[in-house]
Amino acid sequence: MSACRSGPRRHTCTDRPRTTLAPAGPVRATHPSYVWSRPLSARRIDLHTHSTASDGTTEPGELVLQARLAGLDVVALTDHDTTSGWAPAAASRPEGLALVRGAEISCSRGGISLHLLAYLFDAEEPDLAARLAALVDSRVHRAERMVALLAADGAGVTWERVRQLAGGTVGRPHVAQALIEQGHVSTVSEAFTPEWIGTHGRYWVGKLELDVVEAVGLVVRAGGAAVFAHPAARRRGRTVTDDVITEMAAAGLAGLEVDHVDHDAQARADLRALAADLDLVTTGSSDYHGTNKTVQLAANLTPESSYEAIVERATGVPVLGP
Ligand SMILES: [Zn+2]
Ligand SMILES: [Zn+2]
Repeated sequence: MSACRSGPRRHTCTDRPRTTLAPAGPVRATHPSYVWSRPLSARRIDLHTHSTASDGTTEPGELVLQARLAGLDVVALTDHDTTSGWAPAAASRPEGLALVRGAEISCSRGGISLHLLAYLFDAEEPDLAARLAALVDSRVHRAERMVALLAADGAGVTWERVRQLAGGTVGRPHVAQALIEQGHVSTVSEAFTPEWIGTHGRYWVGKLELDVVEAVGLVVRAGGAAVFAHPAARRRGRTVTDDVITEMAAAGLAGLEVDHVDHDAQARADLRALAADLDLVTTGSSDYHGTNKTVQLAANLTPESSYEAIVERATGVPVLGP
């Protein structure tokens, strides 16, 4: 039997007979494991993950190792409003994994909170760097104020403990973890309800957000490529109209995140049609948060052609690795 040439995937090559379930096409003639393998050219690409640098539970250095174990060829690290995970992720990047350095920027339009994925931008570009620093600052302060409100009501949650739980940048999930510890709720999502720290909830405090169209311009001027994250995730609250997405496209948006755990089949179909109309690429990603959410790495994947278009547009920093 010839050696498996599909690279270090999760499957193990064994000598399968060629008579079962053989697909038509060129793969059959060239690859002995065609029965359960995908074509050699299709890389597995996940362009949206969070580490402990923001509100994930996996260290950035560990996340890149897990990404490879999950069978990914390309992973993007996109922590909320920060690039502080870039260096540790790059230092631990395993051979064979391409690392796309990115961020997920807190934005809004008309009172609706929105997220913008930014890839391969220059983190030292002064305008964008200053805005990201202000967003992180605001994130910490709002968490501090939420803890103060909870403490005033006798919830037994302290700022010191929340900071310990965070390790890196403090966010709402860390306040939620402190509420779990105190026995007020049993899950993070239970804490994210109007009763507690859910949006506009009893102990919720708002945070700074950039206008979403302005943010697209900032990312583009810093040499990055911008993709609108989960544009139709209605369970997170209201979403924006197609008009806003059209405005974003005019400002230089590269794509729409279509395949996301928060999008149902109808939302995906609508977004694909809108992307085609506006000449935007479509991506798919896990939005992995470690144990803070149930979704796993590689839960959704980005087509190779979309990934290539994003890389081609970006001039800020290169992809690290193959
Ligand atoms: Zn998001
Ligand atoms: Zn995210």
